[in-house]
Amino acid sequence: MLVVEDDPRLRDILQRGLSREGFDVLLAASGEDAMRKGADGDVAAVILDIGLPDADGRDVCQALRARGLTAPVIFLTARDALVDRLAGFDAGGDDYMMKPFEFEELIARLQAAMRRAGEHGALEGAGLVLDPAAHAVQQGDVRVALTPTEFRVLGALLARPGEAVRRQDIVRSGWPAGAIVSDNSVDAYIARVRRKVRDLPDPPQITTVVGVGYRLG
Ligand code: CA
Repeated sequence: MLVVEDDPRLRDILQRGLSREGFDVLLAASGEDAMRKGADGDVAAVILDIGLPDADGRDVCQALRARGLTAPVIFLTARDALVDRLAGFDAGGDDYMMKPFEFEELIARLQAAMRRAGEHGALEGAGLVLDPAAHAVQQGDVRVALTPTEFRVLGALLARPGEAVRRQDIVRSGWPAGAIVSDNSVDAYIARVRRKVRDLPDPPQITTVVGVGYRLG
């Protein structure tokens, strides 16, 4: 189990509670730390705070998904951050908990999410690594900086390589909940992402799927 939470008190409570339930717990206090510890794929579930000091937890989730993480992700978010809560699902999260929460409820949701996750297959990240703190994409030694929206658009495609991703799903990943985004605007962002990834040594192909959206590879 990977627990990503910058509040040391809550981190400690989660560690003790989860250990008592029989889970091995890896702790991370930042997005960077989470990428290091979650990248080996040997994680059964992730509990991920949205408000991290160096990154948005949703971007961390997209970056971990792009690296092949298939384990369920449960977001932690502040009670007043309703928009965060709604947008959390589309960043590849499986459930959310509002702070403060009952530990028993977290365990119940965690177990439900892990049961549901049983059917997921493995993902390939097309050799690309997303850095959620810098909003950058890296391949080999080459690193390309993206804007936060470009990062999320690429993340939406990378999480499902080889699959046609619908325009509305790209919008849900890239923009805040309720944002009105035209098709032209999505196409313009895809064009910008295509241009930027051309600087990578083995640029991924972003293919237009007519009437649907876009596909990576
Ligand atoms: Ca926090």
